Amino acid sequence: MSVHNDTIIAQATPPGKGGVGIIRISGQHCQKVANQIIKQPLKSRVATFTPFYDLNNNVIDQGIAIFFKSPNSFTGEDILELQGHGGQVLLDLIIQNILKIPDIRMAKPGEFTERAFLNDKIDLTQAEAIADLINASSIEAAKSAMNSLQGEFSKKINELVKQIIYLRVYVEAAIDFPEEEIDFLNDGKVKDTLNKIVKSFENLKSETKQGILLKDGMKVVIAGKPNAGKSSILNKLSGKDSAIVTDIEGTTRDIVKEHIHIDGMPLHIIDTAGLRDTEDKVEQLGIQKAWKEIESADKVLLILDSSKVTDVQDSLSYFKNKEKLTLILNKSDLKENNVQKLNIPHEIDTISVSAKTGDGINNLKKYLKNSMGYTGDNESNIIARQRHLDSINNAFEHLINGKLALEELNAGELLAEELKISQSYLDQITGKFSSDDLLTEIFSSFCIGK
Ligand code: GDP
Repeated sequence: MSVHNDTIIAQATPPGKGGVGIIRISGQHCQKVANQIIKQPLKSRVATFTPFYDLNNNVIDQGIAIFFKSPNSFTGEDILELQGHGGQVLLDLIIQNILKIPDIRMAKPGEFTERAFLNDKIDLTQAEAIADLINASSIEAAKSAMNSLQGEFSKKINELVKQIIYLRVYVEAAIDFPEEEIDFLNDGKVKDTLNKIVKSFENLKSETKQGILLKDGMKVVIAGKPNAGKSSILNKLSGKDSAIVTDIEGTTRDIVKEHIHIDGMPLHIIDTAGLRDTEDKVEQLGIQKAWKEIESADKVLLILDSSKVTDVQDSLSYFKNKEKLTLILNKSDLKENNVQKLNIPHEIDTISVSAKTGDGINNLKKYLKNSMGYTGDNESNIIARQRHLDSINNAFEHLINGKLALEELNAGELLAEELKISQSYLDQITGKFSSDDLLTEIFSSFCIGK
């Protein structure tokens, strides 16, 4: 079944010390390894307590050996798992001995999972879900990655592909038999099916967007004039004292980053140096860094001291592009609150908070979550990547091109062609169509041993 001749080895558990350390070997030479290292024939799916020998017949460790006979293993190839004591020196020693056996080499990052994909044990979204499950930063992200790993995402894609194939068959038959009495292309069925497919695409797009948010979250940059309360807001949002809070202007010179979750969605918060004109070289560098972060942010919270009227126009004047801006009117606890007098442009969202008392902070969190369209925990959430959404958008664009070709030009051939392209974009997601470059990009981001 396997498409590989060489046998690969890697430590499956993280480097360092642990109760148990696991070494995984995949490929056709597992028995050869067993002959040298545990000196016994392999029995599939039996856990054997055994000494581990080096190539000079010295016992170097003892533990459990488990063998999974092809094709009933993770990679679809023969797999031997050696579970020894979790000391790095020991594990390295066992691996170095095994590497001296001919035809065995170190696995590349993600190579076990890549083999599982190439041997049809899992598809591409499931392979990606393994990495996302391991890297999940919240319970919700882990649950969603598990749903994707169990094939939920692939099922949604394949159902859509099935609808497109059904329509392709119908349209192509209508083109092939133009002399039929009935005008199949305009009998209403094609139009109905197209509308249903459009609806399915819309659902899939929104589920995929949620999946991306669960994985990558949103980047929020806190900006504003010195002393507006930026660091205090970062600390209040994160619940930690990450940034220094003082009433001395220009204290935050470098950027400070914090990561929190809102209902499972990661929120990457970045506090920046106060925006002002300054001669101080270090502060200038900090302000340059702030602008870099602002450019790549999903949202910029422009913090204003609501006791100072002059702050608004001054702070806003730093921003030519106000699209990502939300005004945060801080220090709502102060008596000399001048919010009424602040001349705030009505097209910009504003939220009132007090970093001192915590008033309005939960409101701000809710606002951030909603601004990304994140709906929160859902039993059937899937995990997704930008690559998936790009393919879905491309597939959708071609579907719409085909729909227009039918509606405006009655061009059945064009519709059939566009449906075919649309389907191929969806097939890229599950890996039915995939280039070597794409596979390298995906699997090289895994850790070794996965
Ligand atoms: P930054 O320079 O914008 O990061 O501002 P800081 O977070 O360092 O705060 C500047 C000053 O304003 C400090 O003395 C804070 O204690 C004070 N401050 C921050 N937020 C509030 C607030 O909501 N209410 C009041 N009364 N003072 C605040």
